[in-house]
Amino acid sequence: MKLKDRIALVTGGGSGLGRAISLLFAEEGAHVIVNELRPETAEQTVSSMKGPAGGRAIQADVADSAQVKAMFATIERELGTLDILVNNAGIAFGPGDDRAEVNRKSEALIMELLSGQGGQTHLDVTQNLSDESWRRMLAVHLDGTFYCTREALRLMSKKNRGAIVNLSSVAALTGLEVVPHYSAAKGAILAFTRAVARDVASRGIRVNAICPGYIDTPMTERMSPLIRTAVIARTPLRRTGEPHEVAATALFLVSDDSSFFTGQWLSPNGGLFIG
Ligand code: NAP
Repeated sequence: MKLKDRIALVTGGGSGLGRAISLLFAEEGAHVIVNELRPETAEQTVSSMKGPAGGRAIQADVADSAQVKAMFATIERELGTLDILVNNAGIAFGPGDDRAEVNRKSEALIMELLSGQGGQTHLDVTQNLSDESWRRMLAVHLDGTFYCTREALRLMSKKNRGAIVNLSSVAALTGLEVVPHYSAAKGAILAFTRAVARDVASRGIRVNAICPGYIDTPMTERMSPLIRTAVIARTPLRRTGEPHEVAATALFLVSDDSSFFTGQWLSPNGGLFIG
């Protein structure tokens, strides 16, 4: 077992990648704390765990500094320490974003390309983005990653050991025109990963990121069949990814197998981005 006697916190662990990561870490011997906005989905992850050390659910909105502080106070009081943090909680669209319109225009663009005509359809996502959507996107991804990292470092610094993994995205590497706010948040997470890796290396704490391509989770299940086909056509391995493929990447980055990795990103993406 690669994570025997380790205590891990996975944010947004009630769904998709966070659930797959939580279950794999538990199988590898970690005691896994599953954070979620909705306690019932975190509880579902905990009850599916097959591992010797089990887990527990904890509710907090990672975008809220006070809630994150309270979550870590509970962890410190009940468990005394933390070895692993995965900053995974995320949203693909902000409040009020017109997903249907973005999908409609994306499909129109694909049809234009297929028919050999171009230039008729304009996405115009950025010019229609609201302040509220921009703020919530950055709050969940970037503020959440910062708030959880800050508190985790306070615990990890007590024994000068730890591993942090931040979920970024290929959207940070290539830019994703349908979600400029998401792309900005994920790009900032990569820069933050690099800076913090340098900051805390002397304490034996490693900080890395994962930049997945398109993975089948509730976040991507609302893609239309046409958009999905277009994504697969642009992916050299000709498929979307499975959550367990990202979980395996996370396990590598938090285990001693990656002991010389810090400030890096790995991108399970089927070749969608080759950098
Ligand atoms: P998902 O299935 O939608 O899971 C995201 C989880 O985060 C949900 O359980 C959600 O809770 C939770 N969450 C959202 N806001 C939160 C908050 N403020 N505080 C605490 N939890 C919160 O999405 P996923 O595909 O597994 O994505 C996981 C991470 O991977 C995200 O950071 C995403 O951006 C990143 N990623 C995903 C893909 C992909 O193709 N799937 C690709 C690249 C990167 P609710 O369900 O209650 O909202």
